[in-house]
Amino acid sequence: MRLSNYFLPILKENPKEAEITSHRLMLRAGMIRQQAAGIYSWLPLGKKVLDKVCNIIREEQNRAGALEIWMPTIQPADLWRESGRYNDYGKEILRVQDRQGRDMLYGPTNEEIVTDIFRCYVRSYRELPLNLYHIQWKFRDEIRPRFGVMRSREFLMKDAYSFDLDHEGARASYNRMFVAYLRTFTRMGLKAIPMRADTGPIGGDLSHEFIILADKGESDVFCDRKYLEIPVPGPNVDFSDDSAMANIVRQWTMPYAATEEMHDENGIWAEIRQDNRFATRGIEVGHIFHFGTKYSVPMGAAVMGPDGKEYPVFMGSYGIGPSRLVAAVIEASHDEYGIVWPKGIAPFDIGIINMKPGDTHCDSFSQMCYEQLQSAGFDCLFDDCQEQVGSKFATMDLIGLPLQVIIGPRGATAGEVEIKDRKSSVRKMMSFKAAINHITGVI
Ligand code: ATP
Ligand code: MG
Repeated sequence: MRLSNYFLPILKENPKEAEITSHRLMLRAGMIRQQAAGIYSWLPLGKKVLDKVCNIIREEQNRAGALEIWMPTIQPADLWRESGRYNDYGKEILRVQDRQGRDMLYGPTNEEIVTDIFRCYVRSYRELPLNLYHIQWKFRDEIRPRFGVMRSREFLMKDAYSFDLDHEGARASYNRMFVAYLRTFTRMGLKAIPMRADTGPIGGDLSHEFIILADKGESDVFCDRKYLEIPVPGPNVDFSDDSAMANIVRQWTMPYAATEEMHDENGIWAEIRQDNRFATRGIEVGHIFHFGTKYSVPMGAAVMGPDGKEYPVFMGSYGIGPSRLVAAVIEASHDEYGIVWPKGIAPFDIGIINMKPGDTHCDSFSQMCYEQLQSAGFDCLFDDCQEQVGSKFATMDLIGLPLQVIIGPRGATAGEVEIKDRKSSVRKMMSFKAAINHITGVI
C-alpha cells in the first residue's frame, strides 16, 4: 500500500480527552474516531489490526472444535422474558421498539438466542458436545464508558457457547476453551493470566477471567510470578484428548492468581514467598464461565440421554473482547515514540520510507524495493509522500510496524537500504539482497 493512496489521519497533537496511553496512541495513529460517547468508527489502520485479532481468535476457536455462526445484533425481547433476564439486566440494555410496537433490544450478549437455536434443532446426546460462536458487535450502556475502545458502549465480542449432556462433559468443553484462550493471547504477543472469577449465585469453580498485566488496568490483581514461566501449548496440542486438556488447565490454575474480589490477602497470598508475590493492575480480555442449566431449564433446551430420558443441557459461555484487546496490546507494547506492534497483529509487516521523493534514483530504487518485498509476500506500507524526513520517521514510529526499510539517495545509488527494528531501534545498512534475507528471517 502506498501511503499516498492510504487514509491515515495522523494527529500531531496529543488529544486532550485521552486519559491512557492506548487511547491517545489509537487516536494519534488514526485508528479510531469517536462518534458518540463510547461509540467508535474504525479507520483503515485500526480495522486492519482488529481483523487480525479476530482472525487469530477465529483460528484458535476452530482448532478447539467450536463452529462459527452469526447471530443478529437486534434481538426480540420475548426471548429475554423467557430466560427472566429482560428486567434483571437493567439499564445496560439498549431497548428499542420496531414499527409494530414490538420490544426489541441491541444484544449485550447472546445466551438467549443461542439457546433458542439449540432447542429448535438438537434432540439427542449423540449430537453433543456442541460449541457455537460468533464475533459480533454488542451494545452495553455502560455508566462510565472510558479509555477509548477499552471500555466502550458498542464493542466487538467473540462469544462462544458450549452444550453438553452433563457436568463432566461441560468441564471438558470448558477446558478446551481455556486452552484455546492461552494460545490465542500468546499469538498476540500477550501474557494473559487466568484468574479465578466469582461465579455468583451459580457457584462452582468453573469461571476464569483472563487478565493482562498492565499498570493502567482497571482492576487490582495478585499473582505468583511462577505464571511468567509456564509454557503455553503449541499448535499441535490435541483438543480431543480430555485428560491432556485437564492437565494443562491444572498446570495453569495451580499457582495463585486472583482479582481483587477473589483475593485472599491473609490466607494463601501470605504464604507465597515474598519475592514471588506480584501485585499489580490488570485488564480483563476474556472471561469463561460454566453456568450449567441456568438458561436450558427456563427455555426448555433438553436432549435425550443414552437412557432415553430427557435432560436439560449443561452450558457455558466464553467471551473475548477483540476491540478491547487492540487497546490492551498497545498498553502492553509501546514506547515514548508510539506503538510497537507484536508481529502477529501488526497492520503491515514493513514500513518503507523513501526519504527523498522526487530524486530519480531514490524513487526508482524505493519503488523496486516495494515491489520486490510485496511479491516476496510481505505486506508493506510505502511512504512515498512529500514530507519532512523527521515527520516521516515520527509517523512510522508512531504506527509501530515491526520493521522499517529506509531509503536515501546515497543508499539508492549504492543499492543499499537501512533496516530499522522498531522494538530495539537497532539500525543496519545492508544491500537490498541482504535485507530481503534478513527480513525473511525476522518476520
Ligand atoms: P467488565 O468487567 O470489564 O465490564 P464483563 O465481565 O462485563 O467485563 P463479559 O460479559 O465477560 O465482560 O464479556 C466478555 C469480554 O468482552 C470481556 O472479557 C471484555 O474483553 C469484553 N468487554 C466487556 N465489556 C466491554 C466494554 N464495555 N468494552 C469493551 N470490551 C468489553
Ligand atoms: Mg461489564
